This record gives sequence, structure tokens and C-alpha cells, in this order.
Amino acid sequence: MSAFISFENVKKTYHMGEIDIHALDDVSFEIQQGEFVIIAGASGAGKSTILNLLGGMDTVSEGRIIVDGREISSYKEKDMTLYRRYDVGFVFQFYNLVPNLTAKENVELALQICKEPLDAVQVLKEVGLGNRLDNFPAQLSGGEQQRVALARALVNKPQYILADEPTGNLDPENSWEIMKLLEKVNEQGTTVIVVTHNMEIVKAMNKRVITMKKGVKVEDSKGEEQTDEY
Ligand code: ADP
Repeated sequence: MSAFISFENVKKTYHMGEIDIHALDDVSFEIQQGEFVIIAGASGAGKSTILNLLGGMDTVSEGRIIVDGREISSYKEKDMTLYRRYDVGFVFQFYNLVPNLTAKENVELALQICKEPLDAVQVLKEVGLGNRLDNFPAQLSGGEQQRVALARALVNKPQYILADEPTGNLDPENSWEIMKLLEKVNEQGTTVIVVTHNMEIVKAMNKRVITMKKGVKVEDSKGEEQTDEY
């Protein structure tokens, strides 16, 4: 069976005047359905570039990206919009909730035309916010806001969750809770991809880690084999 997600010799080059910046230089990896994968690396390693390409927010310079048998790297704008909207469940560092909508309304807002969308209240209960449905983002802690963001991503039953530094704005306790929640979502069958530079999280989670350095994949391993270097 072919992989759920595959990066095939992906290159991304930014042209800055006379200079070429190789944000990704011949990166290949495969992710199977149901996996939990962390993409790690220091600032400038190419993590955001991977996230933007995989999430359909940018296009490759060379190579191919296949998701669920479809070559998204050849998609035109219209297909890319549909892919971003229906297939990917995004979770961002700064939650990006609408401040004048309650937790429940924020999740409901995300409900798209989906054959069988999940129930917003039910999903909020699953992320532990059953008692905070009518609170506005400003009345919620950072960790709770990120839970709302996760519920918003889950309500459309995305093909996979793509989380960009989901703990970047949280204290260690809340970070751990969000990661545990992502793990639970994964155990229920959703593929989860987390992009982070936080090595504490990487070590604690003990998951498969793809480590990037200066645009190159330098390691792809389970947590136990992870080195401190990146
Ligand atoms: P990370 O997310 O790991 O910090 P990035 O993917 O953001 O790394 O960046 C990888 C490299 O590509 C860096 O050298 C960065 O400066 C460069 N880069 C990223 N986006 C752009 C852009 N839009 N224009 C020019 N250079 C960019």
C-alpha cells in the first residue's frame, strides 16, 4: 500500500535578488495513515516551508507531494482551496479564534458543507470544554483557547491534523495537555503532524521525529533514538 503522505525529492528555493535560498533541498519522507509525526529543527531549518507546502499554502520548486493518492503539488488554485478547506485540520500557535464569538460559535463557524459534520458541542466536550461553551476567547486560558482551536479543526473530520507550534504560546503544563490531547485524537484514528522547535516536547512525546537542518532532512527516527543535536 502506498503512503498516505509522501514528499518526493521536494525542493523549495526562494530567490532574493542575486541569492538563492534553498529552504528545502531534496527532502523526501513518507507518512502512513494513522501516524503521529513531529517535524523538528531549529529556526530556519525549513519546518514552516514543509508546513506551507503540505498545507497547500505554497508551491514546490521541484519534486512532488502526494496526499492520499492525489498529487497536490500539481494542484491549481481552486483544487488547493478545496484541499485546504476540507482535507487539512490546521492548528496554529496563536489559536486564531474570532474574539467576539463564543467557544461554541467559533467551532460552529468552521462547519463546512461536509456530508456528516460532527456536532460542535460534542467535539468541544471531547476536548474537555463542555463547561466553557459560552465563554469568549478572552475568558479562556491559552490552553483552553488552543483546545477550541483543536475542536474547530476536528469538527470537519479532516484527513489529518497539521499543527504549527501548537504549544509555542503555552506554559509547560498546558503544552503537555495539548500534546496529550493530540495524542488522543491520533489514537482515535486521525493522522497528526506537529511542527515544533521545542525539544522538550519532542523528547517527552516519544514519537517519530523528522529532524530538519538547513533545509535538509538529517534524521527520521523514533523518540528513543533522538539525539540532542539539530
Ligand atoms: P523554520 O520554520 O524551520 O524556522 P523556514 O521554513 O521558515 O524555517 O525557513 C527556511 C529558510 O528559508 C530560512 O533560511 C528562511 O529565511 C528562508 N525563507 C523562508 N520563507 C522565505 C521567503 N518567503 N522568502 C525568502 N526566504 C524565505
